[in-house]
Amino acid sequence: MLRLDCPFCGTRDEAEFRCGGDAHVERPGQDVSDATWADYLFNHDNPKGLHLERWCHVFGCGQWFNVARDTLTHEIHAVYYMGEAAPERYR
Ligand SMILES: [Zn+2]
Repeated sequence: MLRLDCPFCGTRDEAEFRCGGDAHVERPGQDVSDATWADYLFNHDNPKGLHLERWCHVFGCGQWFNVARDTLTHEIHAVYYMGEAAPERYR
């Protein structure tokens, strides 16, 4: 089982968390085309390897945070706060 380090609570089992998809995705403004909205809503990265993701500790503190995770090995490379830039080596 994957274990994540919640920056607020410490290490917990994956069952306490929910993945919120890609990190650092900027919501488009209101005056954009349907194609731009569709792209924002439905088209996401699905890399094999390092991926920057948002996670929420839904059965804990309820806080969101970012994770740099390898999707192939599930190795967690970094955990950092929302609004914080990804560590330099993972950008
Ligand atoms: Zn937590």
